[in-house]
Amino acid sequence: MDLFDIYQQSRIRSMARRVQLEASTGEQRHRLTRDELEDLQVRIDRLLLINEAMWQLVCETTGLTHEHLSERMRGLDLVDGVEDGRRTARPHDCGSCGAKIHPALSRCQFCSADAPQRSLFDSV
Ligand SMILES: [Zn+2]
Repeated sequence: MDLFDIYQQSRIRSMARRVQLEASTGEQRHRLTRDELEDLQVRIDRLLLINEAMWQLVCETTGLTHEHLSERMRGLDLVDGVEDGRRTARPHDCGSCGAKIHPALSRCQFCSADAPQRSLFDSV
């Protein structure tokens, strides 16, 4: 499963949840929201476990250190100009008119030119 598959599954889950919420009562919505939060926590914990295991393997096999990782994270964090501990999808420059294209759009909002190929990380 690649990042695009994960993104697509996330969108499908989100749409299914939206349909479920629209057909539910207040109490059912509360329960669905609580269940969704618990599911997200389990998924985050699993992702942390996978990331930590991968990072340990990388350190053991390459000699990279936590300082290397921290430096790279800070650089990626600052791409949007704000050091906030988050990775924010970046706008793209339109190859036709030069306008900034919102990262959620696949075409320029001014001239309709196709947006440049995005990083898979921008699509999550
Ligand atoms: Zn444009």
